Amino acid sequence: MAYDPTNIFARILRGEIPCKKVYEDRHVLAFHDIRPQAPTHVLVIPKGPYTSFADFSEQATPEEILDFIRAAGLIARQAGVEDSGYRLIANHGPDSHQEVPHFHLHILGGRPLGPMLV
Ligand code: IMP
Repeated sequence: MAYDPTNIFARILRGEIPCKKVYEDRHVLAFHDIRPQAPTHVLVIPKGPYTSFADFSEQATPEEILDFIRAAGLIARQAGVEDSGYRLIANHGPDSHQEVPHFHLHILGGRPLGPMLV
């Protein structure tokens, strides 16, 4: 799917919109979700122009994928939710209700999340 460079996360990456940053490296940016669903709700995004998980998994380099996975684990550890537990969610496409067309991972934790319901 063609990448829309006007999406809100692309604008955050370009510094046009502020975010509450929790982590950044050469391939990854992470920031607090603006409408948190749990005490810890961080969004982890690749800096590359990937619309969805499908695009990221197919098009990203091994280094980008490795940095992304490592960053997610580190952010969860630094948020203090590793022992109590957390949930990782990536919505892909309309049926999942993906709102922002730039691939992102939600890290949710800090309270009992209950069973995953769809
Ligand atoms: P999605 O439904 O998986 O695409 O999730 C998009 C997430 O982005 C939602 O949880 C929104 O609350 C969050 N969001 C939208 N705009 C912003 C923003 O400007 N800053 C931080 N989070 C945002």
